[in-house]
Formats: sequence, C-alpha cells, structure tokens
Amino acid sequence: MQQNQHTGWTEELQNAYSDPLHLLQDLGLTAGDVDLASDGVDFPFRVPRPFAARMRPADALDPLLLQVIPKLDELVEIDGYGLDPVGELQAKRSPALLQKYHGRALIIATGGCAINCRYCFRRHFPYANSVGNANIETALDQIHGDTTLSEVILSGGDPLLLNDGQIASIVDRIDAIQHVRRLRIHTRLPITIPARITDGLITILARARVNPVVVVHINHPNEIDQELSELLKRWSEAGIQLLNQSVLLRGVNDSATTLAELSESLFDAAVLPYYVHLLDPVSGAAHFAVDDTRLKGIVESLRARLPGYLLPRFVREIAGAEAKTPFM
Ligand SMILES: *Cc1c(COP(=O)(O)O)cnc(C)c1O
Ligand code: SF4
Repeated sequence: MQQNQHTGWTEELQNAYSDPLHLLQDLGLTAGDVDLASDGVDFPFRVPRPFAARMRPADALDPLLLQVIPKLDELVEIDGYGLDPVGELQAKRSPALLQKYHGRALIIATGGCAINCRYCFRRHFPYANSVGNANIETALDQIHGDTTLSEVILSGGDPLLLNDGQIASIVDRIDAIQHVRRLRIHTRLPITIPARITDGLITILARARVNPVVVVHINHPNEIDQELSELLKRWSEAGIQLLNQSVLLRGVNDSATTLAELSESLFDAAVLPYYVHLLDPVSGAAHFAVDDTRLKGIVESLRARLPGYLLPRFVREIAGAEAKTPFM
C-alpha cells in the first residue's frame, strides 16, 4: 500500500468523474433530481472518486454532492456577481505572484484542481497567463528581492498537483531565501485524493528550514473519514502545522450543528479551524449565498457551543482591504 501511493494519486486524478451523469448514475440519482445544468456551464465538472465515495447514495441534498454538481441556478445572471470578485487581477506583482497583505505573498503554482467546486472564487481566473515554470522563477526572484516578505503561500489552482520533485525544488528555492520564515500551502487535494499525502511530501515539508503550514479546505464533516483523519495526523506528527478553511455554503454547512461537528472532527484530525469565508460574489455561485442575519445566528450559537480555539474566524474578502474582513 505505501509504495503504491504515488501512482495511486495520479491514477485517481485520471479516473476522476468528468461527466455529471456518470456520478449521478453511480449514486442512483437522475439529472432531474438535482436540477442539473447539462449545457451552457462555463466551468467543467470534475470530481475524484475518493471524494465521491463519501457522498450518500440516492440523496440529492448530500452536502458533498451539492458542492460539485452544476445546477441550472448557475446559468442565471445575478447583479453584483462577477468574474473577478475579489480584485485578484489588481493584486498581481508579476504573472504568478499576488500580494494583497503585508508580509505575505502568494504564488500561483498551478492552474488546475483535482476537483471543481462550483462556488470557487477563481472559477473564471485566467490561469493561462499566470502559470508555468518561468513565471514561478520570476515570482521567486521577486520574493528574494523583497525583505518585507516573511511568508510565502503556494496556491493555485491546487499546488499539490505538482509532483513531489517539483515541490521539492520550489521548497529548496524558498529555503535559501533567509528572510522567508514560513511556507504555507493552500490545498484541497488531501481531501479529494487522500493518497496525495505521500511519505515523500511529508519529508520534503518536514525537512525544510522554513516553518511549514498546510491550510486544507474542508466544508463539511462528512468529508473527513477515518482514513483522511489518520493521514492528516501524520502530517501533524511530522511537525507540519495544519489549519482549515471553509466556505459558508447554503444547503451544505449553513448550520451551527454542522459547523460545530466540523470543528470537532477537524481537531480529532489535528487540524485547527482557521477561516470560514463568506461566499465571494463570483458569477454562477449565487445559489450558495447565506444572508447575514442567518449567519449572525449561526455564529452566536457556535460561540455558545465551542471552546474559543475551535471557533473559526468568519471573514469576508473585500477588494483593496488590508486583511480579510471579520464578519462580526
Ligand atoms: C487570503 C489571502 C492571503 C492569506 O491571508 P491570511 O489572512 O494571511 O490567511 C494572502 N494573500 C492573498 C492574495 C490572499 O487572497
Ligand atoms: S479546490 Fe479550491 S481552488 Fe480548486 S476549485 Fe475548489 S475552491 Fe477552487
């Protein structure tokens, strides 16, 4: 099992569902059950099988299914929802380097993801202009030349789509930049394809001079099964700080009970809840929006249930702000 892990994750990528009808059929559902948009959707369908395996069969309201299924709602144009909802294009220092906040800069390491989440704020991001080794080299040179940067974030797309060799070479380059103290990786791959947590990857991060932080993206406790929980704990045991960010999604995790259970399950897997992002107004995702009054009730109820360290920060991203903006 251990030695198969590498081939395991790349095969899982290739085997991902790319046709919603195949996934629905395997779940015992029809297009009509989920109001499927079969045509006209501008963001492809993509779901790895290990993630689909955690969906409940024959449940059109399954919280994992709802995150990935293109609904007819996506085709409705809504005022205020656009292509670049958080001003990313203005934050570019070079094609692959974004900086919005003091001290930390973000490298767009890849364009794609293993899964396509319908609410993704980068679902319309023009990756073709950003990705590639030459752009990453330019970004690293800029980081080298800017001593105000103490943290580098690898993002994307999903940076763990790079293979271990590519990641090792980026980590080596960052290790050699003495003013960088932390290397953060934002990824959903460990959740969608747990086999991506290879021993090799753990070693690369654990051996680095820079302090490693991995921010995973889990929205619902059903995404965490025993296997994933054990794998995440191995990262933590190797000295890698694990945090989680979620997106607040109507019908998926907009309840205090669900979010409380998520925090508890995260902690069992050695992950601390970090952010719950309010939905960015990206076109095609308006059906996931949760109104502020409802959210206020959820936050108050969570605060009354959880220890402070399991309470995530609820934040909104406002273009041009100097940090994520707290909801309350
Ligand atoms: C969200 C974001 C970060 C990280 O913000 P933290 O508050 O440090 O987690 C960094 N850079 C960019 C461009 C971001 O959008
Ligand atoms: S994994 Fe993250 S970046 Fe990729 S589609 Fe989902 S939300 Fe977007």
